[in-house]
Amino acid sequence: MPAAYRRTLQHTDGETKAKEDAKQRSRAQKLRNEAVIRLAMHVACSPGLTPAQAAPLMAVTVVNRTCDASTMKTAVRWLRENGPHNDDPFIGDTKDDQDAYTYARKVNQSEDEKLALRLALTMTVAAQEQHLRFSNNGWDYKVVAYYERLMTEVGYEPTLWEQETLDYTRQQLDAKERLACLTCGCSHQRRPSSHWNCGVVQTDPANREWTYRCNTDCSADKARDMADDVDEDLDEDAEADLAQFGTGEIFTRESVAGPQEPVVEGCSGGLSPGRQGWDGDQHAL
Ligand SMILES: [Zn+2]
Ligand SMILES: [Zn+2]
Repeated sequence: MPAAYRRTLQHTDGETKAKEDAKQRSRAQKLRNEAVIRLAMHVACSPGLTPAQAAPLMAVTVVNRTCDASTMKTAVRWLRENGPHNDDPFIGDTKDDQDAYTYARKVNQSEDEKLALRLALTMTVAAQEQHLRFSNNGWDYKVVAYYERLMTEVGYEPTLWEQETLDYTRQQLDAKERLACLTCGCSHQRRPSSHWNCGVVQTDPANREWTYRCNTDCSADKARDMADDVDEDLDEDAEADLAQFGTGEIFTRESVAGPQEPVVEGCSGGLSPGRQGWDGDQHAL
């Protein structure tokens, strides 16, 4: 098969998979929605977690840096549509997402600390859901932790697509922990900031096998290859010298080639667009 035709086919396969993923992602999102709101109401309302119980959840959310204005708007909407109104004098005043700012201010200025805690706890769930929806280019440990919460705390049953994606992500996270490039040694644990194009790839899905692959423009690998070439040349030169001069002086690497360049630790590929992160395709919660 001509290479160009094969590339076209692979391209088409990639597009088909991306379309199917988008369809399945959207379907799962709809099916998950009820469980997500139930989780939020479970931790935040009637009676909701105590401040002591809430602290670890808040800590994780702050450290994950996944909370922003849009998670606040989502949380206020969930509270407006699903939360208790009897003990909240402000929630009834909110009509749309823009009112969330006023609601947050009133809650913060209120002497009723329970209201701020309720909003913050609702936001912790909205933040996890938002992170999942922004993770179109790959899930991470935060997404896995979120699904584990949904499954254990409110009995959510992931769709088949979600189960398969979770399984793939768990395998990938495990591979990232234990694999390294056999040539240059770079890994997800230890690699310069310019190594973004190197990483683990699934080589045999049926047998759950993965390998760490450096990108073709990985400068660490190139530097290693060049050093190996120099070594081979030097070995040949040394043999020739020995044959010519018997047991005379053997030239050292330094005397022949000068001090060796240090092996460059890094890849020249730069940041791959959208790798595990934002790609601009954001969905409102
Ligand atoms: Zn390498
Ligand atoms: Zn590399």
